[in-house]
Amino acid sequence: MSARTFTRSFFAAVFIAVLAFSGLQPVGAQEAGAQSITGWLSIIWGDGPQGSDSVGPLYFITDEAGTTTRLSVDENTSLPEGGLLALNRQLVTVSGVASQPSAADSEPVFAAVSVEAKDSPERGSTTPSAVSGSKPFISIMCKFSDYAQEPKTLTYFQNMYGSPYPGLNHYWREISYGNINVTGSNAVGWYTLPQPRSYYVYNNQLDFDRAATDCTGVANPYVNFAGFTGINLMFNYDLDGYAWGGGSYMTLDGVSKVWPMTWEPPWGYSAITVMSHEMGHAFGLPHSSGNFGETYDNRWDVMSDTWSDCSRLSDATYGCLGQHTIMYHKDMLGWVPASMKYTLYSSTAPVESGMAPGAYLMATLPFGNAGYYYTVEARQQVGYDVKLPGVAIIIHEIEPNRNDGNPAHVVDPNNDGNNDNGDASAMWTVGETFTDAANGISVQVLSSTTNGFSVKLTNHSATATVEIDSNAQILMFGDVPLGYWAGSWIERLYNAGITGGCSTSPMLFCPATGVTRDQMAVFLLRGIHGSSYNPPAVGASTGFNDVPTTHWAAAWIKQLAAEGITGGCSNGNFCPSLPVTRDQMAVFLLRAKYTSSYAPPDVGSSTGFTDVPTTHWAAAWIKQLAAEGITGGCTATTYCPTTTVTRDQMAVFLVRAFNLP
Ligand SMILES: [Zn+2]
Repeated sequence: MSARTFTRSFFAAVFIAVLAFSGLQPVGAQEAGAQSITGWLSIIWGDGPQGSDSVGPLYFITDEAGTTTRLSVDENTSLPEGGLLALNRQLVTVSGVASQPSAADSEPVFAAVSVEAKDSPERGSTTPSAVSGSKPFISIMCKFSDYAQEPKTLTYFQNMYGSPYPGLNHYWREISYGNINVTGSNAVGWYTLPQPRSYYVYNNQLDFDRAATDCTGVANPYVNFAGFTGINLMFNYDLDGYAWGGGSYMTLDGVSKVWPMTWEPPWGYSAITVMSHEMGHAFGLPHSSGNFGETYDNRWDVMSDTWSDCSRLSDATYGCLGQHTIMYHKDMLGWVPASMKYTLYSSTAPVESGMAPGAYLMATLPFGNAGYYYTVEARQQVGYDVKLPGVAIIIHEIEPNRNDGNPAHVVDPNNDGNNDNGDASAMWTVGETFTDAANGISVQVLSSTTNGFSVKLTNHSATATVEIDSNAQILMFGDVPLGYWAGSWIERLYNAGITGGCSTSPMLFCPATGVTRDQMAVFLLRGIHGSSYNPPAVGASTGFNDVPTTHWAAAWIKQLAAEGITGGCSNGNFCPSLPVTRDQMAVFLLRAKYTSSYAPPDVGSSTGFTDVPTTHWAAAWIKQLAAEGITGGCTATTYCPTTTVTRDQMAVFLVRAFNLP
């Protein structure tokens, strides 16, 4: 990609060159100097360090010749419904006027009179494209040629994407309800850039193109960019005072697109909450805010206030962690299933939702102008939301094309006048009612529920009572739905690193599938020794007739025997593909927990289960498993000893046996 052409004091000479060689064309005689550019739109947001403010969003268009031009957009610019955000990363045509800079060091821009989608001027969707599936990122660590320091190690950057908490793969899976992951992400560097810092940062501004072109350039011999979705550029010294996130149109290893991209100074990658925020921009998310003219004052959104309440959620290595983002943003990226979103139109609207009262992740209440609505979401201090200031219904007012660039504003009547969107007046709790009388809307919080709140919604004369469940509900695995009986156990097993599920794309756990004996060997040894444990090499033999050394779990099975937890099934065999039954499981778990020499207390006169007589071969083990609280049986009175252990049951057994957090 070529360097950004319209830059600063070289404007006049560059402008002539652009007219001659680029796609810039006159659009007609109706307005003197009016021209149009067709190209790819990219949006970049700038974030100051803790305690400062944001800049942007900045808008850029890159034409077919690779020339990138900064756009200026104001309230007079004609935009489709949904604004520029709806056109981010799309092919657009911008009509407008190239403006002369007012001072020698100010950046020339193309003043946009109108922006429309190239494919279909009528399109103007209110939401950008859904983001789903595997989205691996590559971090490139780049050193300015005049600064030698390497603030963090390669291992630090690689592990930042980790699947266990608090890695970014864990974070994005939880935030997106399993809709996306960053599995396959990696880091490379440090590489030395060809130029000193002053080439990339001048007039107190970062030159995004120079930084992106040279940093990807030095890494290109070592990275196949076609294997990655997005790029985090990690620099070894401060940039222009900001961390930046968004996208940049480039051609890398044959792929031409607006690449999701961030530009990070050391303070950016030193707190993982900043990386969560910047990657949010790279996925296309804007900022949200309150109504007080600030950007970083919505404590309910990682895309706003990332710094408050860090004392409740931080990591020794990666610093402050991010909370969830708001429902408006999750819905924008396609992460809220239609069945989990309740829309209450006014009684006079032509469309009725037709949805039954029930449990939802969000409710919306359209009002006034087209595209305006309130969102209603429940927030609880669970998952990454333990960081939140409280437990409450939170309401946002959505205006997609708002002048401050923040479509969602948290509703805070500010009864105490302190401009704090994390205080009681922004939190709608049981007995309280939000009312917008002018638009005929109210939200009454009726009661708390296990996962959220019951609310009565009113839109003019239309009313509905629904349950709104926590924004931070764990929907990490596509086949473990909200409210699943073993959901929290599966989550804990995953967090402990003992399982990554049965499929990674899409993320599945296979909760009803039976556990086989070879799988069990891996689960038990990881439970005993920790998630990073690997058994010794298998050597020349596993010791079992039916387990060749080439079996995928050969080393695990041999080690399980070496630790005395199994003696095999019979006749020198291990029966690796046979399912594990619940009576076998009792023995496996207690031996794994206490060592191979453990023997349970005598069974006495009863096992406590009607289907386990005291003469059952594992009677004492089963009774002890219940005594330790690891099982409560398959019903109140039975244990189902010969039933195969399913993966969801196994999650409960392992979490309890090994006291996993
Ligand atoms: Zn930002």
